Formats: sequence, structure tokens, C-alpha cells
Amino acid sequence: MTTMAPTTTGITGGAWLLEETAPGSVFTPERLTDEHRLIDQTAKEFVTNEALPNHDQLETKDWDLARRLVSRAGELGLMGTDVPEAYGGVELDKAASVVVASRIGQSGAFGSTFGAHTGLAIIPLCCFGTDTQKDKYLGKLVSGEWVGAYCLSESGSGSDALGAKTRATRQDDGSFVLSGEKMWITNGGFADLFVVFAKVDGEQFTAFLVERSFPGVSTGNEEHKMGLHGSSTTPVILQDVRVPTENVLGEVGRGHKVAFNTLNYGRLKLAVAASGGAAVAIGEAARYAVERHQFGRPIASFGAIKHKLGEMAVRAYAVESMIFRTTGLLDTALGDCDPADAGPLRNILEELAVECAIVKVAGSEMIDYVVDENVQIHGGNGFVKDYPAERHYRDARVNRIFEGTNEINRLLIPGTLIRRATKGRLPLIAAAKQLQDEILSPPVLTEPSDVPLGEQLRAVSAFKKTALLVLGLAMQRYGEKLRDEQEVLSWAADILIDTFAAESAVLRALQAATEAPNTAELQTDAACVYVSDAAARVESAARSALAAMAEGDTLRMHLAALRRLLKVTPVNTVVMRRRLADAVVDKAGYMLG
Ligand SMILES: Cc1cc2nc3c(=O)[nH]c(=O)nc-3n(C[C@H](O)[C@H](O)[C@H](O)COP(=O)(O)OP(=O)(O)OC[C@H]3O[C@@H](n4cnc5c(N)ncnc54)[C@H](O)[C@@H]3O)c2cc1C
Repeated sequence: MTTMAPTTTGITGGAWLLEETAPGSVFTPERLTDEHRLIDQTAKEFVTNEALPNHDQLETKDWDLARRLVSRAGELGLMGTDVPEAYGGVELDKAASVVVASRIGQSGAFGSTFGAHTGLAIIPLCCFGTDTQKDKYLGKLVSGEWVGAYCLSESGSGSDALGAKTRATRQDDGSFVLSGEKMWITNGGFADLFVVFAKVDGEQFTAFLVERSFPGVSTGNEEHKMGLHGSSTTPVILQDVRVPTENVLGEVGRGHKVAFNTLNYGRLKLAVAASGGAAVAIGEAARYAVERHQFGRPIASFGAIKHKLGEMAVRAYAVESMIFRTTGLLDTALGDCDPADAGPLRNILEELAVECAIVKVAGSEMIDYVVDENVQIHGGNGFVKDYPAERHYRDARVNRIFEGTNEINRLLIPGTLIRRATKGRLPLIAAAKQLQDEILSPPVLTEPSDVPLGEQLRAVSAFKKTALLVLGLAMQRYGEKLRDEQEVLSWAADILIDTFAAESAVLRALQAATEAPNTAELQTDAACVYVSDAAARVESAARSALAAMAEGDTLRMHLAALRRLLKVTPVNTVVMRRRLADAVVDKAGYMLG
């Protein structure tokens, strides 16, 4: 269809929008190896036997216990999957990291402790640390002897992270003196090492490695949070803290690279943890629905409840499919690269910014749906603390807020694609123009497809064209001012999210026919329901966006084009959701868990 400009990583982020992805080419959970399954088993045993039994005690803010759990996870090798052996890591691929993060995501608040430590402290060190910094700090973090934290947010700058006020004043001897206050820092209460962002001489945004033992470092009181009571969140106060020049992480004035590349991986991992957590909540919902009887029957036998269980499974499946597809892209790009060379990892994390933002938004909204319906299935018991549904509901809510709010991530998705298009890195403008020509030409009659999931693949292709229609008109209509049109950008993001999700689900279901024959029918059901419902969402978002950008004949022409593009015949989602619900009930959990 279009030619991609070559990239240093060999992978072009966002290419899926403009190219067809060959069936058989995406990474899926079905392709996990025995080595992945082994580390999954280790993580599962750790969560079941050590983290979960200690959950209530963690909620009393027993941070010595939290430290012991971090250290135990270190002993088991769970924190070193991303780290070269030379620095005490186990040097596995990203799929292994995802498998571990998914399991640890099932441990409740400890998942947040673990996520900040591994994703927000170990990863920036791996990607941007000097050999000396890695020698000094990585081993301690990987073993769990030390705990890490990431200090970007301030009371006045959350989403606007680069607006930080924390100052680093350069001294004559080359060191820096840091002053300021960071807010909402996960692991703040007990971390030993902080990745702190500050502006050198009030201007150059820079990352620093700050030890708790440095004079002038202190932490404030624990926040009284809605959820995640078993994880520490405090302010971190820096009062004239002298930081040696060798503790600058990355380059002075390039802190945004450290912050944003770290967050890209963090966003993927957040979705992974959400996916793991959702599997647990689906299991709770299924078991309760079987046990709870009303009107003389288990509530699991009612269509309304089957709809909820089936829809939980559909959404979880779509997110899981995107996660593994993105992870596959990461691992393909890293291929045979020397793990000691952090350059390729930095590059591919930057390249996949759009995919990471998509899975973050989709993952956090998927788990909110799942935990909300879990409460609903539990009825009154869902609203009281006797059942875990209440806690899961509270714990999950923050996922839409941290690692970049979902509003900011939504803006980033089309914003990044458009920026790459205008720089000539992604042939999006040519594709939008080609689509316009296609729309103006006489319609071509298409026969119903008789290949497996053929109609769904055709629908995905229509979603891509719809995204191009909206993005093309938006670029034409607003030019550089498009960034001020957040409503249109957010609708475009919704279409892009549904497109990536639908395609990932369909491609995975197609592969399941040969790679997972036992679950292939269920996977097909999940993919078909997702596509069928996504068609309605994509159409609604596109109609709203087009109506905001055009009027009169132009609007009529675009709406006619949309009708032509989005001729997706709905499928019988009732039958499919019921089959999925029955599978979830039989398994007493997520049907593929
Ligand atoms: C439990 C918890 C743990 C956390 N852990 C960490 C941590 O370890 N390290 C760290 O650095 N931070 C951490 N944070 C902070 C978190 O990253 C921020 O809360 C988040 O980035 C949002 O910033 P904010 O709270 O200032 O909200 P704001 O930025 O004030 O946003 C408020 C609302 O306005 C919207 N908004 C803001 N700007 C725009 C815009 N340009 N366009 C459209 N909408 C906009 C937002 O989407 C949101 O809906 C944590 C927060 C919590 C609650």
C-alpha cells in the first residue's frame, strides 16, 4: 500500500495502520516458550505463597515487610529479567518481563511497589546509566537489597511534567545542589534510590540518581489513598541536596528522554499488570456467579450475568493480544543485539510510543470495566470489604491516572503519528490522499468472504481507513492548530485504539487455529465480538469527529464515505458471549488463564 522509511530498529511504530500485517506474524501468549513458563511458575508461586498472604499486613504500612518481599523477589530472579547478567540480572527477553509483570500484577498493592522498582528505577538505569552507575546501583536494585523510586511529578506539575520547579544548581566543582518537592512518589516511604528530575539552573530538564542517605533528602507522610493501601506513596523533599556530577543520569538537558522512554515501557507494563489483575477479578466473578443463587438458580445462568462475564473475557482478550503483539515487536527489534548495549532498547521504546500509549489506555479501561462488573455481579457483597471485589475496584482506579493520564495518552496517540507523518517518517499523508481518491471513485461490489475471520479482517481494514479519513481531514482542516482540537484528537485516538485491538485479536485468533486448537473457537468468539462492537464505536467516534470538522456538502460527502467504508455486518454476539461466559465459569477464571 505505502512504503515505510527505514528505522534504526527495523520496526516502524504505527506501521500497522498503513500496512497489512501478515497472519502468522504476531507474537501471542500461545508462543511462550518453556523458559517463559518456568519463570511464570516462579512468579505465580511467589504471588500465591508469599505476596498475597501478606497483603493485609502490607495495608498496615509495614514497609519492612515490603522490603523483605522485594528482596525475596530479587532472590527468585524476578526483578532482573530486563537486566544484563553482568549487572546481576537474568537477561531474558521482554516476553519474560511481561510474563512476570502479569503475575505480579495479581498481587494487589505489592504490584505497585514492584512496578515502580523494576519499571521506573531499574529500567532508566539500564537504558541511560553509565557503566559506573550500573556497577554501583543496578546489582543492589536487582537483588532487592535496595528499593528504587521515580520522582517526576510535583504538586504543580503532573501531566505537565516538564513544568517541574525542582531546581538543580550547578556548583563550581561540577556537582549540583537540588531543591524542590516531588509528589505522589511510589515507594517514597522506604526507597533507597530516587531517580529525580530537576531543571539545571532552572532550565535544562535533567535526571539525577539521588540516594536517600544524601544529606537533605527526606520523605513526607503517607498519602491517604482511595486504593493501593499496601503500597507507599509520599512526597520526596530535597533540601539543598548535593549530588555529584557522576550521578547525572543520561545527559544534562536530556531528562525528557529518560522520563518519556521510561514511561513508554512503564505504560506497557501497567497494561500487563492490569491484564494479570483482570484475570483474577474474572475468576472471582465467575466463582461468585456460580455460588450465588437467586430465584432458585445460580446467577451465572442468567443472560445478563453471562453478558458481563463474556464481555470481561472479550476485553481482557483484546488487551492481552495487543500486549503480546507489542512485546513481540520489542523482542524482534532487540533480536541479537548485545544486551549490554542499551541503545537498541532506548530506540525501540521511543519507536513504539504509540503502541505503548494504546495498551496503557486500553488496559487501564479494560480493568476498570472488569472490576466494576465484578462488584456488580457480587451485588451488595461487592460493596462491602468482606469480599475482595471492593478492594480490586478501588485499587484499579489509579491506572487511568498514573503513567500519564488517559487523556494525555489519548492525545499522544494521534499526535505522535501526525508528527511522524509531517517529518516524513510515516507515509500517513500519502495514505490519506490515496483514500480520498478511493472514496471519490465508484464503489466496488465485494462478495462476502469465505476465509476464516475474513469478514473481521475486512472490518479491521475499514477501521484503518476510517482512522485515515478522520486524521486526513483533521490535518487538512486544522494544520498546526490541530493540537488545540482535543476532542477530535481523542475521537481519533479511540478509533486507533479499537483498530489496533481488533486487529491484534483477529490475528491472534487466526493463529490459534494451528497454535492453540483447544481454545481456537473461544478465541474466535472473542475476536468476533470485539470487532462487531468496535464497528459501532468506531462509527460513532468518526461521525462525531467528522461533524465537528465539516458541514454541508463536505460533511455529507464524508458521512457517505464512512457508510461505504464501515459496512460491517453484526454477528450474533449473544451466542458468542454466552459461550465465553460458560468457558469462564467452567474454568473458574479467564478462559485462557
Ligand atoms: C497512587 C499514585 C502513585 C503515583 N506514583 C508516582 C511516582 O512513583 N512517580 C511520579 O513521578 N508520579 C507518581 N504519581 C503521580 C501521577 O503520575 C500524576 O498524578 C499524574 O501524572 C497526573 O498528574 P496530576 O495528578 O497533576 O493531574 P493533572 O495533570 O492536574 O490532571 C488533572 C486532569 O486534567 C487533565 N489534563 C491535564 N493536562 C491536560 C491537557 N494538556 N489536556 C487535556 N487534559 C489535561 C488530566 O488528564 C486529568 O484528567 C502517582 C500518583 C498516584 C495517585
